[in-house]
Amino acid sequence: MPELPEVETIARGLASRVTGDVIESVWLGSKPEPLKSPASEIAAALEARRIAAVRRVGKHIVFDLENGGRASSPVPRKPGRKPSRASVPASATAQWIVHLGMTGRMLVCKPDQATEKHTHAVARLASGRELRFVDPRRFGRLSVAHGFNAVGSEPLEVELDAFIDLFRSRKTPIKSALLNQKLLSGVGNIYADESLFRAGIRPRRRAASLTRKELALLYAAVQEVLKEAIALGGSSVSDSVYADGEEGFFQLQHRVYGRGGEPCLVCRAPVKRIVIAGRSSHYCPKCQK
Ligand SMILES: [Zn+2]
Repeated sequence: MPELPEVETIARGLASRVTGDVIESVWLGSKPEPLKSPASEIAAALEARRIAAVRRVGKHIVFDLENGGRASSPVPRKPGRKPSRASVPASATAQWIVHLGMTGRMLVCKPDQATEKHTHAVARLASGRELRFVDPRRFGRLSVAHGFNAVGSEPLEVELDAFIDLFRSRKTPIKSALLNQKLLSGVGNIYADESLFRAGIRPRRRAASLTRKELALLYAAVQEVLKEAIALGGSSVSDSVYADGEEGFFQLQHRVYGRGGEPCLVCRAPVKRIVIAGRSSHYCPKCQK
């Protein structure tokens, strides 16, 4: 499942390719699962709209759409550059929201490129290209909204004091609190384990038991881990990534995630694997308290 850094990388890649382009028409497939909004609503919100921006919100890709369907050439942008995430542009009339689920992909294609099996949506662009949504397992979701915002705080933008406030009265394990999308939006299992390791905090600790200092360490670790992963993903965005999916992702070397029984990279103690709220969690019993 794509996590925040992957979605950020994909959103940046899409922003560099399609910002400024105009959606001329939309084709939607007959499978009901990928359509979270009715097909007619999606088509009405997308057609003859200009793509003003593409950004990541939590683990969603958000296309900000504005009126003025006059074709203009897309503004080229370097893939590594941070897209504007400054909330919703004033001119935006709607947002097209894409959640990739387990296996969803957004492809920017030439129209003569063969349509892949499991293509559920095609947006034809004024530039002659097509934006295609492909998803074999159909856990991905397409919807439209006005003024969409994630419920939780954005982990790369939240201030330290606000971050501390999110967790300090929680009685759940800190690992569960990190995964709670109503608190922080977009931190998944891998990055939660890696952040807790770097902060020296065991995943089962009650969030409320963490000191201010520990929460500050965790805050720094979450940002560090996500930024490192984005930097790695961002440097590998290319057309080939889009052509065949996940290539270039998950390059961050995991220090504990998926390393149960293997020696800790710091102290050589065997990494432990436990299950918290149905999710596997990995930690070093010596380095994490
Ligand atoms: Zn260790």
